[in-house]
Amino acid sequence: LPTFALLPSRSLATKSSPCIQSLPTGLFINNQFVPSVSGKTFETVDPNTGNVICSVAEAQAEDVDIAVKAAQEAFKGSWSTNPAQRAALMHKLADLVSRDKEELAAIEAFDNGKPYSQALAADLHFTIEHLRYFAGWADKIDGRLIDLNSNQHAYTKPTPFGVVGQIIPWNFPLLMLAWKISPALSAGNTIVLKTSEKTPLSALKLASLAAEAGFPRGVLNILSGFGNVAGEAIARHPHIRKVSFTGSTATGQKIMRAAAESNLKKVSLELGGKSPNIVFADADLDRAVQSCIVGFTFNQGQVCCAGTRVFVQAAVYDKFVEKLKVAVGKVKVGPSFDEKTAMGPLVDKLQFDRVLGFWSMERRKGPRIGSEGYFVSPTVFTDVKDSMKIVKEEIFGPVICVLKFETIEEAIERANNTEFGLASSIHTENLSTAIRVSNAIEAGTVWVNSHNQLNAAVPFGGFKQSGFGSDGGAEAIKEYTQTKAVFMTL
Ligand code: NAD
Repeated sequence: LPTFALLPSRSLATKSSPCIQSLPTGLFINNQFVPSVSGKTFETVDPNTGNVICSVAEAQAEDVDIAVKAAQEAFKGSWSTNPAQRAALMHKLADLVSRDKEELAAIEAFDNGKPYSQALAADLHFTIEHLRYFAGWADKIDGRLIDLNSNQHAYTKPTPFGVVGQIIPWNFPLLMLAWKISPALSAGNTIVLKTSEKTPLSALKLASLAAEAGFPRGVLNILSGFGNVAGEAIARHPHIRKVSFTGSTATGQKIMRAAAESNLKKVSLELGGKSPNIVFADADLDRAVQSCIVGFTFNQGQVCCAGTRVFVQAAVYDKFVEKLKVAVGKVKVGPSFDEKTAMGPLVDKLQFDRVLGFWSMERRKGPRIGSEGYFVSPTVFTDVKDSMKIVKEEIFGPVICVLKFETIEEAIERANNTEFGLASSIHTENLSTAIRVSNAIEAGTVWVNSHNQLNAAVPFGGFKQSGFGSDGGAEAIKEYTQTKAVFMTL
């Protein structure tokens, strides 16, 4: 397959964005870019214009097979038994990502539509942070010694699974990849990862950096392809021992079913959300408004933990809504490479139509901007009820519903009245309120006086139908190891 050079286009040619020199477009297997066995390819699109960027190889089940064999061979090598080597290579990869961060951020902005400046400040920053944090874990994964009697003791040994399958979404293509591969590599597994068909490009650049860093062949294999073909083949593969997925709840159910029906591989799922954002009357309202803006406009609202149900205590409701509307009016929607842009286009036509569908559902006029590209303006709905679809379903776009509450008990009950349980935030200056509500909220993450804060050292995962298992922190290392108990009889 030819590499693809992104020529400086209208949306790419600004002084702050580097020209992307050339990008591999093949499947990354055994440290090489290869065509798919079938020769099939698919196109990826610039959401700023709707124009095709390039075609990439499209993995089918037979390509997944080849990648799994490569990963199995690599697992037999020194990778799983040499933690110091793993740490050094992961740090080297972080160095190379850091060296090429402008180019990676430009690819991300071009393929996904997110503002270039945010891709650089957030996606690249956290990608590097994840690689380094988990590089640090590689030689610190240890077990326990259990004394049994004078003649016997046992010890536990955290052991990698072997080949793990990973399937990621399109909203943070590079960062979701870093969330998945960093703990898995650190723990000594080898990987077959499938990117989203909407955003395959930045992962291919990262793959070339892994080869440059000197990763052993077959340790990290990255496939572009579709969910119902390559994704399904990963979920069903008999030699993949664990599958980790981030995406929608509906797909998570399919993956769990496929894993159960094939080889009972271990499953972890990071799924959707409809996170509550509770503002108490004693909160610092300006700060709460800013958190709220970040909570639903960052990444065009295409964030699993977006704070999309905002409950505001009655005493400050009118004041909050007034301040919120002023702040929303200042969010600049524009092309990904414009330095002033705070929100770029949605990822593609499908997502654009899905998001606008929520307006027609409520019989309201959708806030489309311009005639090309997939731009929508951030929108606040105030005259809504908890029972409406727009309040209950994940929209994955820049839309929030603001609802009024009276008492702390009511806020807790309504916030928990959802099948999702990914994240939540509480805005209050009262310590007792903060602790009481954070104890009662059914969600994997609670932010007090902020929203969308992430750190590689902190676990991130869902309750209820937002999934199970954690990315981030020591918990993620546990996700990628299984415990072996060894009995010693003297
Ligand atoms: P999606 O479920 O449609 O796709 C996610 C990935 O799964 C893609 O790579 C896709 O190709 C693949 N896939 C689709 N069908 C499959 C199948 N049958 N078998 C195997 N793989 C399959 O989700 P999306 O539209 O890419 O992402 C948006 C969703 O992801 C939202 O619901 C969002 O909340 C969720 N998300 C969750 C988190 C989190 O950490 N919890 C993070 C980001 C996104």
